[in-house]
Amino acid sequence: MLTADRTVHTTCPYCGVGCQMDLHLRDELILRVTGRHDNQVNFGNLCVKGRFGLDFVHASDRLRQPLLRTSREQAFSPTSWEAAMDALARRLLAIRDQHGPDSIAMLTSAKCTNEENYLMQKLARGLIGTNNVDHCARLCHSSSVAGLATTLGSGAMTNSIADIQDSDVMVVIGSNTTEAHPVIALQMKAAVRARQTKLILIDPRRIELAQFAHLHLRHIPGSDVALINAMANVILAEGLENQAFVAARTEGFEVFRQSVQEWSPDRAAAVCGVPPELIVEAARLYAGAKAASIFWAMGITQHTTGTDNVKALSNLALLCGHVGRPGTGLNPLRGQNNVQGACDMGGLPNVFPGYQPVTSEEARRKFADGWGVSYDRLSSTVGLMVTQMMDAVLDGRVRAIYILGENPMLSDPNLHHVEQALRQVEFLAVQDIFLNETAQMADLVLPGVSFAEKEGTFTNTERRVQRVRKALEPPGEARPDWAVLSDLAGRMGAPWGYRSASEVFDEMARLTPSYAGMSHARLEAGGLQWPCPSPDHPGTQILHAQKFSRGLGLFSPVAYRPPAEEPDEAYPLILSTGRVLFHWHGGTLTRRSPGLDSLAPQAEVEIHPQDASRLGIADGQTVRVRSRRGQLVAAARITQRSPAGTVFMTFHYAEAAANLLTSSAVDPIAGIPEYKVSAVWVEPLAENVPT
Ligand code: SF4
Repeated sequence: MLTADRTVHTTCPYCGVGCQMDLHLRDELILRVTGRHDNQVNFGNLCVKGRFGLDFVHASDRLRQPLLRTSREQAFSPTSWEAAMDALARRLLAIRDQHGPDSIAMLTSAKCTNEENYLMQKLARGLIGTNNVDHCARLCHSSSVAGLATTLGSGAMTNSIADIQDSDVMVVIGSNTTEAHPVIALQMKAAVRARQTKLILIDPRRIELAQFAHLHLRHIPGSDVALINAMANVILAEGLENQAFVAARTEGFEVFRQSVQEWSPDRAAAVCGVPPELIVEAARLYAGAKAASIFWAMGITQHTTGTDNVKALSNLALLCGHVGRPGTGLNPLRGQNNVQGACDMGGLPNVFPGYQPVTSEEARRKFADGWGVSYDRLSSTVGLMVTQMMDAVLDGRVRAIYILGENPMLSDPNLHHVEQALRQVEFLAVQDIFLNETAQMADLVLPGVSFAEKEGTFTNTERRVQRVRKALEPPGEARPDWAVLSDLAGRMGAPWGYRSASEVFDEMARLTPSYAGMSHARLEAGGLQWPCPSPDHPGTQILHAQKFSRGLGLFSPVAYRPPAEEPDEAYPLILSTGRVLFHWHGGTLTRRSPGLDSLAPQAEVEIHPQDASRLGIADGQTVRVRSRRGQLVAAARITQRSPAGTVFMTFHYAEAAANLLTSSAVDPIAGIPEYKVSAVWVEPLAENVPT
């Protein structure tokens, strides 16, 4: 058996928990992975993906050379970096000069480092002159950011993983935490077991956390606002609100109070399907706790009412004063390893790094000075969101798309629409570590490197900035993405001249107040949570302790709106989508891990026994799932996990991509698609029917 000759301390590349791990290495091989104990994030734990799922780093189909083709009908040919970078710079400049800066759109990456995200948006804004820059946060937590920014003034998780142990009551709503954020789920389960913390689980599915729940409210998908408003109604009717907190720290209370008067538990029960007495019990428990926290994920955010859902939760926390103290707070659990960082770095169409608005003259002057570009180069027009970019291609506004480490051909809703746009776009460049579904459609593909082959930082779900360290040499000619972007800028007329990721970080920190006190050197000693405004600042574990980022917390009344698409005769079932423990997002990484793939090798449709019996479907039988957008074939899994009337699929399998079915209806404020509610038809197929 090989033994390791060195270890490298780094950050897990999968989810937003940001577990700290040691890679045990020999030569250019990762032999094993262990969790580190010297931190406040994972306390030595790792989940199955972190411990056993890093095979993708050594996959034989890693991209090793740039690939270029002169027309989409041709096959790719390997080419030199020189030729590839010249082609990229030439095409981007030509399209900008002919059609204007806003004819180019760029996707930054929640899988790449802060430094790389910073440079990608700097390229878009400072060199090309467009704010058409976005990334997959649009598809997971843009509604959390929009909702919390409105009510509290900051869109991030308010509290820390470590203070889960300080909660008397936890509300987990729309988060399958054990599968999506497994190491945080360990903390939750430990709190229930060791501290008798009471868990209120609000989720249509009987997920694993249900075994630990004091109450499980199984509501109808898309009815969150009705349910949460009813909890507020009970709290006010019974005088359980924290009057001192409301008076001292909030505004807008009276309008909010009136808005929930009509949401009696009985009325809400008719909408959300939860018995009124359970709503009352949950409300009393939350309001009566000394310290109660709320955690959510995409079950709350991926709705056309995503921003409203988040505002409703925020109202509840403000009403009871469960903010700004240990064990309280509003805690959106971020999905990808660096989705928090990609947002912080300005990988969004409306803000520079640190959420400084592009519409602010002061911010534009600051970044023009910091980047050494003319003030006129920086556009004050808010750019396109991911969900608007494809339409903009189809109507001719966008001519070129440059994508860093994202795969919209699996992750976006309504995939036929995405495919049509990517076929039509004049120039498509993709920078990634694999020739994924989107890269296969590109004109130019650049080989980036994995987390194990570069230096940088990721920011986890609790705003903790942590180091990523180079452990291995890149395969073939692959290059760190920050170095590729720096090279490209030089060819486009701006010799940035960075010699290291650390230099990129230093420039970013000078321009980003919440990161101003950090540097790679300081992060060597351990992660720091923003805001960290000066080199002697210890970082911030709990936001809004004395005062909210916006001053007073804002009650924000929300009216219930049903989902954009509801079941009907033609499509009688609700489809909801999510994850399993063993896979990650589009499966690009985990499906290259034989161990993980063997545990969840195929796409399944979870269906309730009543629906299965009515439709004549047997367990394991092949079924066809159809929506108004498309269809796919998968295996039926008959289970009471999902309630009757609802089917569930994961989005990990390219051969049965759930997003062929999902609706492109979006939240009007955040632009997030309604992945959690689509109307579908399910029918059994005779085995071996051609698909
Ligand atoms: Fe990695 Fe997330 Fe698992 Fe931790 S919980 S090991 S960060 S995938």
